[in-house]
Amino acid sequence: MDKIKIAIQKSGRLSDDSLKLIKECGIKFNNGMGKLKAVADNFPLEFLFLRDDDIPGYVEDGVAHLGIVGENVLVEKEKDVDNVKLLGFSKCRLSIGVDRNWDYKGVQELAGKSIATSYPKILKGFLDKNKVNAEIHEISGSVEIAPSIGLADAVCDIVSSGSTLLSNGLKETEVIMKSQAVLIANKSLNAEQQDILDKLIFRINAVQEGKK
Ligand code: ATP
Ligand code: ZN
Repeated sequence: MDKIKIAIQKSGRLSDDSLKLIKECGIKFNNGMGKLKAVADNFPLEFLFLRDDDIPGYVEDGVAHLGIVGENVLVEKEKDVDNVKLLGFSKCRLSIGVDRNWDYKGVQELAGKSIATSYPKILKGFLDKNKVNAEIHEISGSVEIAPSIGLADAVCDIVSSGSTLLSNGLKETEVIMKSQAVLIANKSLNAEQQDILDKLIFRINAVQEGKK
């Protein structure tokens, strides 16, 4: 049987739970530290370990047939892939944060301000929907320090407990989207690949049922 490739975040907030899910599905593999690839012993699956940002694009192109990524990254990248299954981990939200001393009353207050983010497309959609004209300042990391160094008036960033915002003197004012990990698939799998995916989904469903 052919193998299919699944792209998993190499190291970060999706990695451990992604690999845990694979193990709970009874799929065994050896991932040596720092390796970019691994092969399952008892299931026709090959793993590619990548940066999460690259996963939607690789799945669209068919470099990987499947991938596990946050909905936030999936929506931002606007790639044409199948959204197969919500996985229930890496739950977070994409929110607006402003200086905690800002007497923030509503989204209109963002008009004319600059907002630092790694999610320019999602932020633009949110601002357009609210008819707010603000400047989007795209940066790739450490977004939450932007206000304190004078780079932006506000941030649009991933929040889970809110402690990162808090420790940077910010407060959460708007939730733009909620996110969790999602299994995605290439849109043109052949019959055999689809069959392997169906078997994987069957096992994931069993794992999820077992947790209820
Ligand atoms: P990479 O090096 O792969 O690009 P990254 O730094 O962009 O990694 P991480 O911080 O590892 O990304 O987050 C990966 C995904 O995990 C995020 O896109 C989001 O969906 C989710 N996530 C981020 N922060 C949290 C959090 N605090 N709690 C739960 N989930 C989170
Ligand atoms: Zn990333």
